[in-house]
Order: sequence, then C-alpha cells, then structure tokens
Amino acid sequence: MSAALASRKLNPVPERLPVFDVEALRKDFPILSTSVHGKPLIYLDNAATTQKPPVVIDALRDYYEGQNANVHRGVHHLSQVATDLYEHARERMRAFINAAVSCEIVWTRGATEALNLVAHSYGRPHLGPGDEVLISHMEHHSNILPWQLLCEEKGAHLRVIPINDQGEIIMEEFDRLLSERTKIVAVVHVSNALGTINPVKEIVAKAHAVGAVVVVDGAQSAPHTPIDVRDLGCDFFAMSGHKMYGPTGIGILYGRADKFESMIPYQSGGDMILSVTFEKTVFNYLPHKFEAGTPHIEGAIALGVAVDYLMRLGMDRVAAHEHELLEYGTKVLQGVDGLRMVGTAREKAGVLSFVMDKAHPHDVGQILDEHGVAVRSGHHCAQPVMQRYGLAATTRASLGLYNTKADIDVLATALEDVNRIFS
Ligand code: PLP
Repeated sequence: MSAALASRKLNPVPERLPVFDVEALRKDFPILSTSVHGKPLIYLDNAATTQKPPVVIDALRDYYEGQNANVHRGVHHLSQVATDLYEHARERMRAFINAAVSCEIVWTRGATEALNLVAHSYGRPHLGPGDEVLISHMEHHSNILPWQLLCEEKGAHLRVIPINDQGEIIMEEFDRLLSERTKIVAVVHVSNALGTINPVKEIVAKAHAVGAVVVVDGAQSAPHTPIDVRDLGCDFFAMSGHKMYGPTGIGILYGRADKFESMIPYQSGGDMILSVTFEKTVFNYLPHKFEAGTPHIEGAIALGVAVDYLMRLGMDRVAAHEHELLEYGTKVLQGVDGLRMVGTAREKAGVLSFVMDKAHPHDVGQILDEHGVAVRSGHHCAQPVMQRYGLAATTRASLGLYNTKADIDVLATALEDVNRIFS
C-alpha cells in the first residue's frame, strides 16, 4: 500500500449520500443475491450478526496486502501507516457516537468484552458489601453475568428492574429500586430479544441523581439508530462491530475520560505501559491503558470503514427505514394465524420476536430456512426474558438496513407454510 492510498483512506468526512435507496444499497451486499436450499436468501438474523459490504472486506484485504505492521511500536513506514489507519478508525468511532475525544474510545473484542472491562476495572474497586447494581429484566447474558459474578465476589446485591407485559421497563419500579446504595445501573439500550428501546436518557439522569454510574449496552442500538453518548449522558457505552456491518472480534467501549482515568487496567502486558521495572510500572495514557497486547488492527480499521459506510447512508435514514419495515412487519405478522408477538413496546427497534400456536420455535426456524429465510430460534442469550413470559424460546426476525417489505412478505408466506405443515 502506497502512502498515497493510505492518506486517501484517512479522508476525514464521509459524504452523506443524496438519498437512501435500499435497492441500490442491496447491491453492496453480494451475499443477499445468493441462494439457500434453492431459494433466494432472505436474511433476517441481523441481531445475531450483520452482513458486510465489500468496502469492509476490502479494508481487511488491503491491510494484509499493503499495510500489515504492528501499531504503536515501529518507526518504520509501514508501522506508521498501520498506526495512522488504526487511530483514524478510533477517531471515526468517536465521531459516530459523538464522544468528546477519541481517547474515550477503547477497542475491545465486542460488547461482551466491553461490559466485562467495566465490571472489572470500574466495578471491582467501587463495589463493596451491601452496595447494589441495578440491571433490567431484559438484559442479554453479557450484561447480567459480569455483574452477577462481581456482586457475589463483593457481597453486593444484584437488583432487577421488572418489565411489563409489553416488554417495557416499569419506570416506577426503577424509581423504587434506585437508592444511595445503587452504585451501578447497567441497562440495554435496545433489547435483542424484544426490540424495546429503553429510555436511557431518563435512566441516566435519575441514576446520576443518586450518584450511580450508568453502563449502556448499545450492541443493538448502535447499528440501527443515531447514537450521541454526550446527549444520553451515560458513563459507559458498549458496542459490537459485527452487528454494525463490520468484522467479528472487534467492538468498542466508550467511557467518559474522567471515569477511564480513575480506573485500573483490565488486562496487562505490552502497549498499556509507559515504563516497567521489576519494582514499578507506569501505565500508558488513555485509551492504551486498556488495550494490552497486539490488538485486532485490521478489525478496527475495517470497523472504521463500516462506520464510514453507515455515516454516508445516515443513521437517521437507517432508523426511519427500519422503523417503516417494523411497522409493516408487525402488521403482516399479526395477520398470520396462531402467531403471537413477544415484545410490543411502544418504542421499538426492528426486532420481530414471536411464538406460534402449532409449532415449536425451532421447527418454525427450520421450515423458514427451507424457504431461504434466515431467522433465529432460541432464548437469544436472554433466558430471564424468556422466563418472564413463560417461554423456552421464540423465533426472532431481526431487521437490517438492507431488508425490504418483500423480505417480510416472503417471511409471512413461509409462516403460512408452517401452519399448513402443522395443521
Ligand atoms: N448485548 C446485546 C443486547 C446483544 O444482543 C449481544 C449479542 O447478541 C451482546 C450484548 C453481546 O455481543 P457480542 O457477542 O458481540 O459481544
């Protein structure tokens, strides 16, 4: 890779496309033109992972073909190119979520690692016996287990904010549970199992009023709606690259600089230090203090490219498109005999979770697969949500920016076939 191409990739501002044209952008995802069991693929498993546009795949290949060097370590040209691209991607993530400074962006393996980092580096020193951590009943296991384990270790209590039948946090219960004992509130922004969009800004304001910090699991919101961490006011925000059209194995933890500054490292080793002697180590500046070892360099660069792609489309237009599909999909699915939606919150993102009278969710998933329709059947790593509704599993169709009403129509036809087979 020449320096000229490297600097082209550092081009600062992605231009917003004049229009959001779903038919045109579908051509950016060749996998959508493939077949499954002889049927055109209808990909409705975006909450599990999203497909990747060629610009993202090219970024991975470009890195290995022309930029491969370790970051932050070499004075040689290639190492500087790789470092520039890597840090540029961090700056892109900052812009995407409107963080104040790029040192508030820490690369992680994904949302799971980001949440574990907060539990370890903020939670462990700040929690003591009798303290409380508040989570909601609709959390993904990634935002339950780190807190559950930490509370057990520290003699602290994990409190759960109940949800109503529609799948909304009961705010009166949140108010009731919140107290000066609450040290951490950890909530999901958009539920992967129900699609609920939680009132995070209100939750943050209330939690801050009692001195608690707020950790937001943004794994399912960042790919589908504009994010402004400063407007939300949260202390931490976790994201997964592979759910936002980027590679697997890369994500970010946003943390307010004052919080990050005061925290202990998560892992230790190379790159996270300024100096080491056998007597004493001085840790590196933010964000490197939290990035021990050689990172997922090409993943970070390619995630930056994915975010460029999203910014060109405009997250406001992505959200509007998916909302229109959600409304259409809800109407269509409600017309399918014996189908019951699970998760009917007033504020919802593009998740259509449902059960059918006649067929088990796994059978539904299998029959849909025969129609080329990819959905998820199971507990969606949110078993307490399933327990709340007395279910073992649901079938979940989850929308992405490239889905269309025609995709929903194929889903509905396939569901009619489920009814025919099980009648
Ligand atoms: N939080 C939510 C709401 C999720 O949906 C997921 C993944 O499905 C995660 C966290 C964990 O993300 P990852 O497995 O990419 O770390």
